[in-house]
Amino acid sequence: MKITKVRARVFEWKGKVVPPAAHFCTNAVDILYERGDNMGSFRFHDWLVVEVETDSGHVGIGDAALAPRICKNVIDQYLAPLVIGADPFDNEYLWQKMYRCTLAWGRKGVGMAAISAIDIALWDLMGKAVNRPVFKLLGGRTKEKIPCYASKLYSQPLDQLADEARRYMEQGFKAVKLRFGWGPRDGAPGMRKNLDLVRTVREVIGPDIDLMCECYMGWTLEYARRMVPLLEPFNLRWLEEPVIADDIEGYIELKKMNRFPIAGGEHEFTIYGFKDLIERRAVDVIQYDTNRVGGITAARKINALAEAWSVPVIPHAGQMHNYHLTMSSVASPMSEFFPVHDVEVGNELFYYLFKGEPQPVEGWLQLDDHKPGLGIELSDEYRSEFNVIE
Ligand code: MG
Repeated sequence: MKITKVRARVFEWKGKVVPPAAHFCTNAVDILYERGDNMGSFRFHDWLVVEVETDSGHVGIGDAALAPRICKNVIDQYLAPLVIGADPFDNEYLWQKMYRCTLAWGRKGVGMAAISAIDIALWDLMGKAVNRPVFKLLGGRTKEKIPCYASKLYSQPLDQLADEARRYMEQGFKAVKLRFGWGPRDGAPGMRKNLDLVRTVREVIGPDIDLMCECYMGWTLEYARRMVPLLEPFNLRWLEEPVIADDIEGYIELKKMNRFPIAGGEHEFTIYGFKDLIERRAVDVIQYDTNRVGGITAARKINALAEAWSVPVIPHAGQMHNYHLTMSSVASPMSEFFPVHDVEVGNELFYYLFKGEPQPVEGWLQLDDHKPGLGIELSDEYRSEFNVIE
């Protein structure tokens, strides 16, 4: 089997977008003097889809959500020529070739997102070629079904927040994640508002449901050190990305406080990035995103590393590529799930682009043993809502 074509397209949402309210989630831009509604990389409304075609007629689909137009350029100019003509089953070799040929500028960030998209497409392709789901190529089923957590609960008026949390309880979720709205520039009043959010959700869900809290890199070490003791009574399962991804010492310091687990890695890349985080004991929970970290080829190596160091892997975002990895690894006890809703921050777009994503039942996701590849395909249903850049 040979790869004959790599087709990278950007799908730009032109449909309705729900504008987020002020303070709906902290992010790394917040500490700058000019905040406005600048959400940095937090919001996006476009998505990269790559299709890898072969002489056998099989087509693999991969995707990436970091700077899609630049990803497309990286694929068109640099990566596609490296893989065309190759056997997709030589995926480890192809990963190394893409990595090593772009090493000077591509080993982290958008270059690795582009490699991830192609790698995911190769795994989808291999699954389709042997008529097996991807998780069956990765080690198979390690769990009967996948526990997942409802991940939304953006900062909002407390009565609405309580209503949203109540909905997830009615739907049977056993774990939920909320977003903080205030950070270092908001002082003591902001701290109180953050605590109000956590208290509101904890009161609705009770003591037996796992509660996680997301900072999206919007805090500093100093601020986080002050917040951690205040959050301790709420028995968090983890505090997520309290400081920017490059502040590894900050993660280590917060972990040393030993009040509750610290999670990170959503903005880290490849086995080398995670080797650092794991060996330095910087995080208690690893949250790579397969379509950034280096695709399934990189993610499964990180799973093995995490297993050896007893660090759980709970990938960032929903999406099939993450679910196949969770299903096939004992190091991965749970998946994130974004409840379907209007387009707000951009994460939701994959529901509008693809069909085949499983929906949770009572907080569990199931994968089909007989659906080949990733089990998703491009959907035409919302195509008119996108500009497609070829
Ligand atoms: Mg996160």
